[in-house]
Amino acid sequence: MTETATAPDTLVGGGDQPNLYIGGKWVAPHSTKRLEVVSPATGQKVGSAPDGDATDVDTAVKAAKAAFDSGVWRSKSPAERAAVLRKAAELLNERQADVTALISAEMGASAADVATLQMLPGTGVLNSYADASDAYQWEEKRTGLFGETIVVREPVGVVGAITAWNVPLFLVCNKLGPALAAGCSIVLKPAPETPLDANLIAEIFTDAGVPEGVVSVVTGGLEAGQALVEHPDVDKITFTGSTAAGKIIASRCGELLKRYSLEMGGKSAAIVLEDVDLPSSVHMLVFSGLLNNGQACVAQTRVLVPRSRHDEIVEAMVETAKTFTPGVPSDPEAKLGPIITEKQRDKVEGYIKKGKDEGATAVLDGGRPEGLDSGHFVAPTIFTGVTNDMTIAREEIFGPVISVIPYDTVEEAIAIANDSDYGLAGSVWTSDIDKGVEIAKQVRTGTYGINWYAIDPASPFGGYKTSGIGRENGREGLESYLEHKAILMPMGYSSQG
Ligand code: NAD
Repeated sequence: MTETATAPDTLVGGGDQPNLYIGGKWVAPHSTKRLEVVSPATGQKVGSAPDGDATDVDTAVKAAKAAFDSGVWRSKSPAERAAVLRKAAELLNERQADVTALISAEMGASAADVATLQMLPGTGVLNSYADASDAYQWEEKRTGLFGETIVVREPVGVVGAITAWNVPLFLVCNKLGPALAAGCSIVLKPAPETPLDANLIAEIFTDAGVPEGVVSVVTGGLEAGQALVEHPDVDKITFTGSTAAGKIIASRCGELLKRYSLEMGGKSAAIVLEDVDLPSSVHMLVFSGLLNNGQACVAQTRVLVPRSRHDEIVEAMVETAKTFTPGVPSDPEAKLGPIITEKQRDKVEGYIKKGKDEGATAVLDGGRPEGLDSGHFVAPTIFTGVTNDMTIAREEIFGPVISVIPYDTVEEAIAIANDSDYGLAGSVWTSDIDKGVEIAKQVRTGTYGINWYAIDPASPFGGYKTSGIGRENGREGLESYLEHKAILMPMGYSSQG
């Protein structure tokens, strides 16, 4: 490993990042391959980063293991580690403009979307993990069959974190927050579409006080991800991405008996009840399906509406969706960004065609907006006449496509919501909040919203069924980076004297 003296001067604005950020230092990569980052909004080159290989992953894991074994981070008190997380959140806020500019360039989201969908929840997660750590019982005395036992919670070890591109800042905070609060070392492998911002974020964590070796970033694609999963010194894999990739990773972790947690896809249902107050709800309802251009695991893309109010609700949704106009990040009027890649846009358009072929009606058929040919844009599409067995109702499209499914009884709506391979999120839209809570308890998903949908950084987040294994956020998220150890005291011993 060749250490270089300084950070690249292109770290903030994009540009070519020649090196890898390993253990708090910039080092020359072993791999000679590069990841080219092209703006999905303009088609312009944003920059490039090393496409790390297995040797680069090994270098980062060695640094992480050395830091872990040295105790430089894990032997700090939970309160000291929590203070560093709070400081990192503060520094992220201070450097919001730099981070936002880079993320906007990489994935095309507007500054407003980066602020609400990434910066706010990302810093929220860091502060919430600090709070969860402060409230956590790190050590506990129990009295069992043989007398006294001390139960201690210890960091799981070296964490390999593999993330998706759709909300890169938020996802990286979801990994750094709990791993660092627990006392682990961590090697991040960000998505190949958005490699640049992870380096900047990692550097901000170093500035906040994370010691050398504890946080590393190996930019790269499949090879780097697989090498992280395979590495014998990685104790836990935390993955956010597609269910297809998650299944492969879980099966390898199973063979290796490596700990893992998975945050994967969704096909969430918004149940609109007959008593919904449409004027006050429709904007949020449509936003919940189209947020981040539908490129959100929690997007409420199946909207279940009572047949008695079907036409009125659809009309209001269509009028609202028309106001979600796509545009480049610098356009203040733009409400939606681009689709991340041409390949993904083809996939989205393929689903729209499939919906029509299977008999659904595109009452709003956004298509490719005029004047935005340099990027991969698709305007919102709303389908009616959808049945829950159609492809567009079953598969995650990851684009601005909403399927409206009519129902006759609330029981039927709950059954449709539950008739999915996924179980990540959901929502109910009603004037009767108690009824909303009752319905929330009957839908098999990890999170649920009443008259809106959001992720609460202090509460568990994750999936039922093929949406995930494990939870992030809150005490539950922290615990998934901990081992629980029981220390049996001598027979007859009492700490009370
Ligand atoms: P993806 O699965 O293609 O890639 C995700 C990451 O995994 C990337 O870093 C990729 O390089 C890596 N990877 C892929 N295959 C791998 C393998 N076999 N071994 C090791 N690493 C591998 O997903 P994507 O297209 O980047 O992201 C979109 C998906 O992510 C959607 O399904 C979305 O729902 C999901 N997602 C879920 C959440 C959540 O919290 N549940 C949040 C954001 C995105």
